[in-house]
Amino acid sequence: MSWVQLEHKHVTVRKDHFCYLCGYKIKTGTRCIYTAGVWEGEGSFIKSRIHDVCMSMTKDWDTFDWEVHEFGCFRENYAGELYREFDEWRDL
Ligand SMILES: [Zn+2]
Repeated sequence: MSWVQLEHKHVTVRKDHFCYLCGYKIKTGTRCIYTAGVWEGEGSFIKSRIHDVCMSMTKDWDTFDWEVHEFGCFRENYAGELYREFDEWRDL
């Protein structure tokens, strides 16, 4: 299974979204990275929005890291002090 990326760009969100990596809210009017793509073989189309700071922590990730990531683990392993400013997150 491989990831085929169709779009990857900076956007300003027009409504609140939740970050695909950390699960915290991306508030209306802030910039983030919008990504869209397909998992080849599976055929599932995925759109996601990700904080700049979260994306910067995934430079060394491979496909497996992306497949298995969880909000809680991401926050624990990568976020640390950076996330004190984010006060709301998706409840899963
Ligand atoms: Zn995030």
